[in-house]
Amino acid sequence: MDYQQILNTIKTELGSQQYTGKVASYIPELEKIPPEKLGMHLYCINSGHYSIGDNTERFSIQSISKVFALTMAMGMSGDELFQRVNVEPSGDPFNSLIQLEYENGIPRNPFINAGALVISDILISKLDNPKKEFLAFIHKITDSNSIEINSKVFESEKQYSYRNAALLNLMKSFGNIENKIEDVLDFYTFQCAIEMSCKELSTAFITYANRGKKLANGDDVLSPQKVKRINAIMQTCGFYDEAGEFSFRVGLPGKSGVGGGIAAIHPGQYAVTVWSPPLNPKGNSELGMYALERLTTLTGFSIF
Ligand code: GLN
Repeated sequence: MDYQQILNTIKTELGSQQYTGKVASYIPELEKIPPEKLGMHLYCINSGHYSIGDNTERFSIQSISKVFALTMAMGMSGDELFQRVNVEPSGDPFNSLIQLEYENGIPRNPFINAGALVISDILISKLDNPKKEFLAFIHKITDSNSIEINSKVFESEKQYSYRNAALLNLMKSFGNIENKIEDVLDFYTFQCAIEMSCKELSTAFITYANRGKKLANGDDVLSPQKVKRINAIMQTCGFYDEAGEFSFRVGLPGKSGVGGGIAAIHPGQYAVTVWSPPLNPKGNSELGMYALERLTTLTGFSIF
């Protein structure tokens, strides 16, 4: 498979693709990112790295961090974790409060904000220094020790965290948050403010395409059974109320973030990340979805 030629074709097509999406503005710092930024990086298990555009420039990973947080939490927990967060698609926006009231403070899944906040709460209870250990985990799976948070994005989101604070308060009223609301919000916002490039994200995500083993050295990050579960949740819940559409059009497990990134995997084959900041109305990168749809169309392979 000539992945570089396929990526070049996608780059040409993207050049003439009109978009109507808008860069996220509810986190004011994110709105400053130029909408024309565009990068894509594919890391193939057998044949290495392929890329186009701004693939080595770091951007705000936002909700893509929810995959890493779940990985850490599952690494330290058994099935009891899933008594506090479910594994069903929500069919609602990422920051929705509505189901929580009906469902007694148990979030639908770990990839909507409510579920990720429960995972943050679990990590805070289990780790001595959650921020440091979270970054150390990302350094370990990428071998990029310079990955850090963007403190302006962190502060910017913290000032406007009304909905996440509301989700935490509601869940705490049901007894599903152990730690202080401020502490959970602080750690969750920190993890979202991490910046990584497409290349670094593909390097991290190759682990999920490689049965939980780091490709660079074969180290076990997570058991194959747990990775299977995370991939299943990415497939069914990685794109909020557009998870069905993403499966339908692209056919790979993946996760998006409001920074405009999407990371996806083809188990046993590759990890791919695309970055384009303008978001469609569901909060997913508009051109990112287009690029990944073209990838599985031009290669002729998806997981289906
Ligand atoms: N930090 C963002 C929030 O909590 C992440 C949302 C996203 O990327 N979908 O609103």
